[in-house]
Amino acid sequence: MPFAAGTSVDWRHSARCRDEDPETLFVQGAQQRDAREVCTACPVRTECLAHALDNRIRFGVWGGMTERERRALLKRRPDVISWAALLESARRAAAASPAANPDAPARPRRPARPAEPAAEARPAGRAERRHAG
Ligand code: SF4
Repeated sequence: MPFAAGTSVDWRHSARCRDEDPETLFVQGAQQRDAREVCTACPVRTECLAHALDNRIRFGVWGGMTERERRALLKRRPDVISWAALLESARRAAAASPAANPDAPARPRRPARPAEPAAEARPAGRAERRHAG
């Protein structure tokens, strides 16, 4: 986990990479894709990524994203003022979804469409009328 000196973030205590050599997250190019594997099951991935994005940290792997991925994301979303707020809100929304919480009460379903009438009960179509004689 790459931390700048003087950073006062308590999420770092739960970082999965806490005991890793910091240099493993500051590799170059394609090696970054391998380096980000350590982030996959990290419990503070969201906080880490938000920290890097909000502070425009240019180097290293943060929150499972490479330098290039973060740069592209920042370019796509110049409107985001606080990545911490945005990512936290997305996490809450995901946690509140029924898929994430199977014990949540089910939302009312839309009424089923009425069944199609049987073929013989349907009024004759144009083709059927034409051949009816
Ligand atoms: S997301 Fe990755 S870089 Fe960030 S703290 Fe977790 S393991 Fe470290």
